[in-house]
Amino acid sequence: MDIQIEALNKVYSGEKQALSEVNLKIGAGMFGLLGPNGAGKSTLMQILATIIPPTNGKVQMGSLLLGRDDHQIRQCLGYLPQTSRFFDKLTGEEFLQYIALLKGIKSAKDRRVAVTNLLEKVNLQQQAKQRLKTYSGGMKQRIGIAQALLGNPEIIIVDEPTAGLDPEERIRFRELLEDLGRDRTIILSTHIVADIEASCQSLAILDRGRIVFYGSIKNLLSKVENQVWTTIIPESDYLWSRNRTSLISRRKTVTGEFEVRMIARQCPYPGAQLAIPNLEDAYLYFTRGESSE
Ligand code: ADP
Ligand code: MG
Repeated sequence: MDIQIEALNKVYSGEKQALSEVNLKIGAGMFGLLGPNGAGKSTLMQILATIIPPTNGKVQMGSLLLGRDDHQIRQCLGYLPQTSRFFDKLTGEEFLQYIALLKGIKSAKDRRVAVTNLLEKVNLQQQAKQRLKTYSGGMKQRIGIAQALLGNPEIIIVDEPTAGLDPEERIRFRELLEDLGRDRTIILSTHIVADIEASCQSLAILDRGRIVFYGSIKNLLSKVENQVWTTIIPESDYLWSRNRTSLISRRKTVTGEFEVRMIARQCPYPGAQLAIPNLEDAYLYFTRGESSE
């Protein structure tokens, strides 16, 4: 199911413009929405999930129109909010049973089958009878995904699901999403570049309410080709490097010098070498404003 977003704006009361003229096309597979804190990711996710209305603009999901067909949209959509409050006293299985009932799966047998299948899918069969309060961060996110999958929706929206997970849990969660993305649309928001890297066919970068990039990962990398530089600078130039907007990273070497990585159209420091750009470089390039050097 394709999602088409046109000229979407959200102004919160108090005049905070959280989204400005957002245009996006999201097809099947995994779509990454990347942006720093406060960019407007959760606002966009909540609008798509019909939790809050946009101020204006148009969102079409297949033939369904947001604002007109919200009831049907909810039927084909699963959502994992950024901050989800689970029912600590319930077991994983009871929680899914409860959500299944809320989602309108009427027959007890259908609920049982759906819950058993989902517990297996997110690899929580062993913990099905444990209370949610005993779950780790990664397990909570997996049961969260399982509830989003109840009713087999075509679209899954997950808002910053990997924040707060340890590295191992994060990788496992990414693999799960990748697997789920094979036969449905997944919209994944994150501020962690590595979440997008392995699995997203296309992505958008949101910065201060605006889409500053939309396209493929290859496309994104090509934007900073021949603009990423590395060099070693002496400690005496430390302050110089710290004040550059073009600075991406700086690492102190064992000899007390600094290894710096910069984005610039032209060589930013005598003797600097062009480097192979990575996604982090490109992300910083778009979210910090283009280098003017
Ligand atoms: P992100 O998820 O990318 O961190 P959000 O969508 O949560 O960004 O927030 C975008 C901007 O809108 C922020 O400046 C935030 O403070 C503001 N904002 C979010 N929710 C509300 C609200 N309910 N009322 C007023 N301002 C809000
Ligand atoms: Mg958010």
